[in-house]
Amino acid sequence: MTVDRKVRVAVVGAGPAGVYAADILTKTEGLDVTVDILDRDPTPFGLIRYGVAPDHPRIKEIIKALKRVMANEDIRFFGNVNFGTDIKLEDLKGFYDAVVFATGARRDRELSIPGVDLDGSYGAADFVYWYDGHPDAPREWDFQPHAKQVAVLGVGNVGLDVARILAKTADELLVTEIPDNVYEGLKNNATTDVHVFARRGPAQVKFTPMELRELSHSPTIDVVVHPEGYEFDHGSMEALAAAKSQKLVVKVLGDYLAKEPSGAPHRIHIHFCQNPVEILGEDGRVVGLRTEITELDGTGNVRGTGEFKDWPVQAVYRAIGYYSDNLPGLPFDSNGGVLPNDGGHVLDIDGSPIEGVYATGWIKRGPVGLIGHTKSDAAQTVKMLVEDLPQLPAPEFADREAFDRHLDSRGVEYTTWEGWEKLDAHEMSLGEGDTHPRERKKVVARDEMVGIARG
Ligand code: NAP
Repeated sequence: MTVDRKVRVAVVGAGPAGVYAADILTKTEGLDVTVDILDRDPTPFGLIRYGVAPDHPRIKEIIKALKRVMANEDIRFFGNVNFGTDIKLEDLKGFYDAVVFATGARRDRELSIPGVDLDGSYGAADFVYWYDGHPDAPREWDFQPHAKQVAVLGVGNVGLDVARILAKTADELLVTEIPDNVYEGLKNNATTDVHVFARRGPAQVKFTPMELRELSHSPTIDVVVHPEGYEFDHGSMEALAAAKSQKLVVKVLGDYLAKEPSGAPHRIHIHFCQNPVEILGEDGRVVGLRTEITELDGTGNVRGTGEFKDWPVQAVYRAIGYYSDNLPGLPFDSNGGVLPNDGGHVLDIDGSPIEGVYATGWIKRGPVGLIGHTKSDAAQTVKMLVEDLPQLPAPEFADREAFDRHLDSRGVEYTTWEGWEKLDAHEMSLGEGDTHPRERKKVVARDEMVGIARG
């Protein structure tokens, strides 16, 4: 037994990082604990619901495991609760022994090049939010009828998701959970060629092998790897020798490079050693992308050659990584885009640990790594929290329902796990009853979601 009282922990963020932390906490031997998970979305599962692409049902299967965790009656869910406005850190401290932030990263990292604010220059995170039907995303996407050539900057898995969704037809996505407004929007997508730009070489891409291979599974897409810049230096060879998965990625790229296009109506082009330096505009809209051709410098990094190339594209999607939101009342490390922390214990600006405040997932270590990686991360944070418990003061309001009463008194229309189950069943019935029956069709509007969840 680490402490002889019933312990109450709040987790802010109901994505995989938050749910794994709750799971590990409730399984900690000798600890009598209840956990409340809060989220600003009315639904649980964070980026699995609003980040994973709709045509990736395999990854969405993780939800089944998370549901099993949430079935534990020692864990409760409070959705539609916005940390910073509905509830502040000081409030939470009155109800909980400790608070774990698992708020992830939802914004696009900024790209500081001229033209980035032109119409037709989009952040990938915004596009992902739109096609995943997030309630805060605009209902319509600004597809232009003339935008046939489109650029995607960045060669990570988000870049792949964006390129694939842009290159697929709306009808191909109709077997997925996309809401009606997304299907209608995608029908206006005129893209024929998606140009994905890597600023370094093939050995430095951040794709994972399965996701890269899967690009060719659509009959409407040819994947074209361009030979310019398809080069390896000493650093590349070392990187390939060290990581089997990177070797596999390069094997897949090599297969695409060698393959003749089949004549499919859409193409995803992958270009190497092209560093985006300017988005070109006319009358406020994107008309092109300027890149500087780079060369590998021997270490796997690149240097500019001073030679530039203009690409006539009518839209640019920036998929150069996510960035976390600053959390009101907490310090923020703007370089890493994380809560400053020591192994998960959140640190104040002077470097001293903030009593009872922890972080896990992308807000702790930055927006890298696959979903599974958040498990070991959560284990590290929870271990630290449990060790600290004997020194932490008990909260002022110890009974479990005190927090519910507090939210009620402030008029917060929170959703619960039971509410999510209602919405879940409703979305599945919408999918089943659709003219194109499928497993689920998402509800998008926040008030509609909250209305269904709250009965
Ligand atoms: P990421 O993997 O970090 O990739 C970001 C890409 O942007 C890199 O290629 C990076 O190139 C490039 N980049 C950064 N700054 C740039 C600049 N100024 N100009 C041009 N290119 C620039 O990030 P992500 O794609 O957002 O993915 C985040 C995490 O989520 C990853 O761990 C990813 O695997 C995961 N994820 C997984 C899936 C899946 O289906 N399994 C789907 C989505 C996301 P450099 O390497 O040269 O910096």
